[in-house]
Amino acid sequence: MGQAMVAIAQDACTGCDLCINHCPFEALLPLTTNPEGRSHKKRPVVVVEEQCVGCLSCIGSCPTDALHEVSVPPLALVSPLLHPSPRPETETVKRWGNKKTRWA
Ligand code: SF4
Ligand code: SF4
Repeated sequence: MGQAMVAIAQDACTGCDLCINHCPFEALLPLTTNPEGRSHKKRPVVVVEEQCVGCLSCIGSCPTDALHEVSVPPLALVSPLLHPSPRPETETVKRWGNKKTRWA
């Protein structure tokens, strides 16, 4: 049995940011810029692969079903957990405000 992680269908991601607080590992972060040619006005959220542990806590948090589970091959030589894509340019998200003491 292989591990899992998540991916975001960029065409379906409106950039609403609802999923961000559902990831305890800060693996869901907004891109710094909106890629050219995108149909949505707001920049998308992406999965930072090196931080995603596949807990699937975020699944179900997306109103457009852009978030989906993907299987990670059990063979470490080809696993994206060991060979993640280049880290995208993402914004920093303040997760813990003065009165925020728990995840969403
Ligand atoms: S909840 Fe869905 S649409 Fe909203 S930012 Fe996350 S992936 Fe994109
Ligand atoms: S599967 Fe877990 S670690 Fe990966 S993005 Fe979703 S909540 Fe974060």
